[in-house]
Amino acid sequence: MSKQIFITSTIPDVGIQLLKEKGYAVEVRSGDSLLSQEELVSLLKQKSYDAVITLLTDRVDATVFDAAPTVKLYVNYASGYDNIDVVEAAKRGITVANAPADGSAEAVAEHTIALMLALAARIVEADQFVRDGKYQGWRPTNFIGSDILGKTLGLIGAGRIGNRVAHYARALGMHVTYHDTVRNEQLERDCDARHAASIEDLLSTADVVSLHVPLLDSTRHLIDEKGLSLMKPTAFLINTSRGPVIDEIALEEALRNHRIGGAALDVFEFEPKTVPGLTERENVILTPHIASASREARDQMAEVAALNVIDYFEKGAPRNVITT
Ligand code: NAD
Repeated sequence: MSKQIFITSTIPDVGIQLLKEKGYAVEVRSGDSLLSQEELVSLLKQKSYDAVITLLTDRVDATVFDAAPTVKLYVNYASGYDNIDVVEAAKRGITVANAPADGSAEAVAEHTIALMLALAARIVEADQFVRDGKYQGWRPTNFIGSDILGKTLGLIGAGRIGNRVAHYARALGMHVTYHDTVRNEQLERDCDARHAASIEDLLSTADVVSLHVPLLDSTRHLIDEKGLSLMKPTAFLINTSRGPVIDEIALEEALRNHRIGGAALDVFEFEPKTVPGLTERENVILTPHIASASREARDQMAEVAALNVIDYFEKGAPRNVITT
């Protein structure tokens, strides 16, 4: 009997076609609205699926594993996988993989740079000003921003995405400092990057701090009230990683009191909600978790997710297997 694959949401056709070409029976839930865990459980109970492609918004833990005993592989259509209980999966012999497409890292890096330039040039505030009919002519004092040239970018996490952001930043004439649990000597050579031994060192010296770490116990609230207090009063904070890496209540307070220059967030601690007051701040740019939302990136992510499923059935292990 052919392998039964369930995909919890519509994803680009390229991935679905790859699976169908292998003769697998592929079922795709129509639409891409958020799925509650109850809905996911009820969908998985309908058939004896062999593998499931999930979204980062699907909570996959013991409840789901219990409901779908035949599923031996979960592939997350994302590079992050904090929505899946990988420890529980490992205990049960269930394989988990992610889809860290190069195109996705590229798209997130481009989005990060777009947010940085928008913060420095105050693009969003100025756009709103014109739309509100407030523009009455050129003035020397209208929307004074800051240059990027010669400033220091501090990267927390210098993996696939952080590395690309560093290269773009160098092209813009910035200095690069990074903090990562793993030293990246290639990045140091390629981008003349300085390794900051501590987060405190990085936070107190960077003009722009950009977060590119996975969400783990060790990175939850990595940026908290104390961390924010170490940043320069002019510095910007950018988060395109995962919301809970920042204590968002502390960030809202820091923005309200102008303790930092501004922030740009693509992800939120209590996604899709934002903490009270955040949307009222003028010194923050908010995008709805779209950093990887380029056509090219999403196609590649679908392809990589499908290739992981194919690897598993043809070779016994997916190329992007997650180990605990
Ligand atoms: P990656 O695994 O290539 O790099 C992560 C880096 O973080 C690694 O170099 C790792 O050593 C480092 N790290 C881990 N724990 C750390 C710690 N405590 N302190 C400092 N460094 C630490 O991952 P990536 O592909 O660069 O993606 C990073 C994250 O970005 C993903 O985990 C995901 O959550 C997020 N992401 C968001 C979007 C989006 O749409 N906004 C898209 C893709 C990925």
